[in-house]
Amino acid sequence: MEKREELYAGKAKSVFKTDDPDRFVLSFRDDTSAFDGLKVEQLARKGMVNNKFNAFIMQTLQAAGIPTHFEKLLSDNEALVKRLDMLPVECVVRNIAAGSLVKRLGVEEGSNLTPPTYELFLKNDALHDPMINESLAESFAWAKPEQLAKMKTLTYQVNDVLKQLFLDAGMLLVDYKLEFGVFNDGEIYLGDEFSPDGCRLWDKDTREKLDKDRFRQGLGNVVESYELVGRRLGIDFDA
Ligand code: UDP
Repeated sequence: MEKREELYAGKAKSVFKTDDPDRFVLSFRDDTSAFDGLKVEQLARKGMVNNKFNAFIMQTLQAAGIPTHFEKLLSDNEALVKRLDMLPVECVVRNIAAGSLVKRLGVEEGSNLTPPTYELFLKNDALHDPMINESLAESFAWAKPEQLAKMKTLTYQVNDVLKQLFLDAGMLLVDYKLEFGVFNDGEIYLGDEFSPDGCRLWDKDTREKLDKDRFRQGLGNVVESYELVGRRLGIDFDA
């Protein structure tokens, strides 16, 4: 496999073409952004930590039967993935109220959500990722009904697997965002990444925030926290 030109640079990752038209290289950078790119900083080691964190989670999900784009780690900061046509929809499951839900509905941060909630957002920075629903997604052809159904099923399956995984390691999976795409076989695969940049994780006992809220809220020790979470899961960042 040969890495070719950069195709796209997102806020924290860059995508490179390869000599295989159906494979991309994802490169995890140290850039960290929040509030639709309003707050941006370079955090040393974050690219490496998120790349290895994501690899571990994607492999765990794959082992549980959830199709993901992840193929293999290539280096500290790079992974080989399937080329997906990404759907511009973000799928969010929440087990505990936090973030935009708390602001939108005026509920107390930390309340348990039973059953867990499921929300869709349009991936559009200029519009600040507005909340949408399946009807809008279908009417505007952002995704087909059967794709939306599959995304919902897979997003909840991810919750079953990861909620337990984090709980066993002494953490609460508060919420998370997933993005999906279509591979050349026409099937839906989990794409993008799963890392503390795109989920909320609290210590089970102290409820200390261990995720990107440390960056959003200026709590410090951002990458140290990500690494601590990873080590609790058994990830060896020096390997
Ligand atoms: N999230 C994300 N990217 C986004 C928006 C949200 O990764 O563009 C994640 C976020 O980290 C959290 C979950 O999705 O784990 C729910 O986010 P929320 O709607 O509360 O929005 P926030 O207040 O975090 O922007």
